[in-house]
Amino acid sequence: MADLTETARPADPFPSPSPTPDAAGSEALGCLRRVFGYDAFRGDQEAIIEHVVAGGDALVLMPTGGGKSLCYQIPALVRPGVGVVVSPLIALMQDQVDALRALGVRAGFLNSTQDADERRMVEAEFLAGELDLLYLAPERLRVESSLRLLDRGKISLFAIDEAHCVAQWGHDFRPDYLALSALHERWPDVPRIALTATATEATHTEIASRLKLQDARHFVASFDRPNIQYRIAPKNDPKKQLLELLRTEHAGDAGVVYCLSRKSVEDTAHFLAQHGIDALPYHAGLDAGTRAANQARFLREDGVVVVATIAFGMGIDKPDVRFVAHLDLPKSVEGYYQETGRAGRDGLPSTAWLAYGLQDVVQQRKMIDGSEGDDAHRRRLAAHLDAMLALCETVECRRVRLLAYFGQASGPCGNCDTCLTPAETWDGTVASQKFLSAVYRLARERRQKFGAGQIIDILLGKKTAKVVQHDHDGLTVFGIGTELSVAQWRGVVRQLLAQGLLAVEGDYGTLVLTEASGEVLGGRREVRLRSEPERPARASAKSGGSGSGSGKRAAPVDLPAEAVPVFEALRAWRAATAKEQGVPAYVIFHDATLREIATAAPASLDALAGVSGVGESKLAKHGERILELLAEMRGEE
Ligand code: ADP
Ligand code: ZN
Repeated sequence: MADLTETARPADPFPSPSPTPDAAGSEALGCLRRVFGYDAFRGDQEAIIEHVVAGGDALVLMPTGGGKSLCYQIPALVRPGVGVVVSPLIALMQDQVDALRALGVRAGFLNSTQDADERRMVEAEFLAGELDLLYLAPERLRVESSLRLLDRGKISLFAIDEAHCVAQWGHDFRPDYLALSALHERWPDVPRIALTATATEATHTEIASRLKLQDARHFVASFDRPNIQYRIAPKNDPKKQLLELLRTEHAGDAGVVYCLSRKSVEDTAHFLAQHGIDALPYHAGLDAGTRAANQARFLREDGVVVVATIAFGMGIDKPDVRFVAHLDLPKSVEGYYQETGRAGRDGLPSTAWLAYGLQDVVQQRKMIDGSEGDDAHRRRLAAHLDAMLALCETVECRRVRLLAYFGQASGPCGNCDTCLTPAETWDGTVASQKFLSAVYRLARERRQKFGAGQIIDILLGKKTAKVVQHDHDGLTVFGIGTELSVAQWRGVVRQLLAQGLLAVEGDYGTLVLTEASGEVLGGRREVRLRSEPERPARASAKSGGSGSGSGKRAAPVDLPAEAVPVFEALRAWRAATAKEQGVPAYVIFHDATLREIATAAPASLDALAGVSGVGESKLAKHGERILELLAEMRGEE
């Protein structure tokens, strides 16, 4: 799926140092087939794996769902010793280890959630060479005793997952990651592979220098996620808009809804639950037990929606998240892309939907003004916000803009709202002049500043109590803007703010002119605006909407009618098995694998082994039962 293209930068210092690259290659391929049950490598997985197996360092930029895990898991299995994986995602280590064990891989983890006994057991396994992979929280590497433990075992490689956490420019900096630069000094002969799904040019460069990976080979995949449909809608009544989306396109689907504040998380989760959606809240104000329980239900059960602040979801590798919705404007394009990237890891059609309005701009500008830190920090935040606003207001393909932000060129995608329903633009110069001149008159004639609501009332000639109280019906601009509706005026203001032609000031979101406003007022600058759509853009057939209905799950897309009951039976079996074993459903088999089983209806273990995602260990564990189940289904028909 992901089209991987290796960058030329920097020059490759390790031109295939392996003496027998073919042997290493076939060993890796054998491992892919036997252990993971997949036929072929994707994109540059093979090149990356060969490079690391041969002892080279690598920096891998690949989008979520691109298949990063195999890039270190297979080398760890092929090379002698234990692969040490550094990951900040402590809460997920148990699931990651369970998923590997289900494949017959000997994996363990060390982090602060364990008691001393559990830790000692894993340490003993590590020292005895009984592990293939050991997951470690980064803070462990600051402790001398952990380093000494690693000294006493044999390490095959270091994998640094979520490598962007080392970058201060990025959106997810973790001080513990800075210590990782020392790995190289202590274990100069152990290859290192750093991986991330989020990196602008700036973050990429910072990762390389902080982890001392400038001389490593860099693999940069296309960041495109073609199966995700990007949509950004004007915000009217966000909860209702969301409900409509879930009912019409994502009934019974698992998804994540992001809100900015804890309160709106609570309100939204409550609202959805009231309307029959299996929705759970997740934010830092909930106690740890509730958070863990809600996350576990999301991971383990089918069709759960989590409403969360951004604290939720990092590293969640649930493959079948069908939608990610944002009810508030994200603070940066990097953050937005990473959050939406949690949808559709399995490559099946998914939706990224964002509702965005004037209030978002006002609120975020206010937050930046009031934020702690120096001017440079505030400028950085403002630059991030500006890029996000430009994405929201673009009349071009969203994907083209997103990929351009990550330094990658592309053409119109055909699977985003602007491609599906081309945005119309209009000459908003006169409207902008009217609005800006109202701001100007209030400031000059009355020494007053107001928010957007009051100014729009003035332009529309509304004699509200507040207008009368301030005598604003006496202004020359009173009633000069009746050609536009309130919603259209709000669109004008939002876009003026996004284009830097207007600014927000102070705690009350009052509006002031900028230097560039003068050019518009003086008639020296034209303002093109995006029309407010009459109706929000809808998904095309491509988005795989699962139809309306109140059932737990509508018929899955792309499945022949006769396979649907088989698929449902397999899902029910999977849910029961997962529950029995206390692991997430996807650890047993992914949806894509169940789908293929339902369609191909294999009649023998050999045929079942040919299905993608069925490796040796899972075949041995579940093969017989699945064949029985398929036979039962045939018998009933
Ligand atoms: P990432 O960590 O980059 O987000 P994962 O490693 O979780 O991606 O892989 C995404 C999905 O693709 C997983 O379900 C994984 O099992 C599957 N996958 C990875 N590589 C292959 C492959 N070569 N063939 C088939 N499926 C693959
Ligand atoms: Zn597009």
